Amino acid sequence: KDKNSLVETVQPKETFDDVGGLEDVKKRIRMDFIMPIQSPEFFQAFGKKSGGSLLLYGPPGCGKTFLAKAIAGEINASFIHLELQAILSMYVGQSEHNLHDVFEKAREQKPCVLFIDELDALGGNRHRMSQHHDRMIVNQLLLELDGLQSFNDQVYIIGATNTPWYLDPALRRPGRFNSLLFIPPPSQEERELILTLKTKDKPQEKLDLSKVAKVTSHFSGADLTQVVDDAVSKAIERSLEQGSLQPMSHADVLKAARNRNPTTLEWFS
Ligand code: ATP
Repeated sequence: KDKNSLVETVQPKETFDDVGGLEDVKKRIRMDFIMPIQSPEFFQAFGKKSGGSLLLYGPPGCGKTFLAKAIAGEINASFIHLELQAILSMYVGQSEHNLHDVFEKAREQKPCVLFIDELDALGGNRHRMSQHHDRMIVNQLLLELDGLQSFNDQVYIIGATNTPWYLDPALRRPGRFNSLLFIPPPSQEERELILTLKTKDKPQEKLDLSKVAKVTSHFSGADLTQVVDDAVSKAIERSLEQGSLQPMSHADVLKAARNRNPTTLEWFS
């Protein structure tokens, strides 16, 4: 990855309405993260500090990235998606320099949500040669996070990891990633909601999505998105064959669901 793709900024259109379920999570994020930005006076009156950063964790594909983007959408902020793996693969020195550039870019684009993905890439099971490199990056990250704190300059940091227990403890201290939020796999009811969101606006016959939700235990939001995608492909295929638009059927969706496996189970074992 070149340096420029590391710092690509977007203006997300997604909001919390596009995120299916996760009502408790949204409520907490509203209260702890969004309201202090939108109505700082009430928080200040009670001596409650605003800002801070948020760490999302949980099995893959359950909406951490999507939620971070929706937070940016909610507060009309720009959004930068930083994949830590890309920084880690650079040379010593270059990594720290580029990490600094990303934070600099976020400050220029403020208000900005800077989403730092794959925090678990730091530390963990990497071989000894990279430990020093990791240390340097963690130090640079701490420097940047602490720097932001003293400015309160409308750069909001959201981190994500699948394995928070491997995270460097220094990153978890107050003012850094001290607020930890679990993003669980969707419940049956939430799966139905996500399926409804992903199928709306698509040509369809009557779908029984509650039935599909029932047979998709342990599917992540990403898995469900794939299921709908498969069903869409099927309907397009049929349309091409018949030379006229064929809607997606309940059988298409159900079959697609039965042909896929859930990906969240592994995380819990
Ligand atoms: P990873 O840990 O692999 O990075 P993640 O938790 O960041 O995964 P996302 O990238 O946010 O997962 O989710 C993948 C896709 O799945 C999203 O782009 C979105 O379309 C869909 N998705 C996941 N969860 C939800 C949800 N709750 N509501 C709607 N869509 C969802």
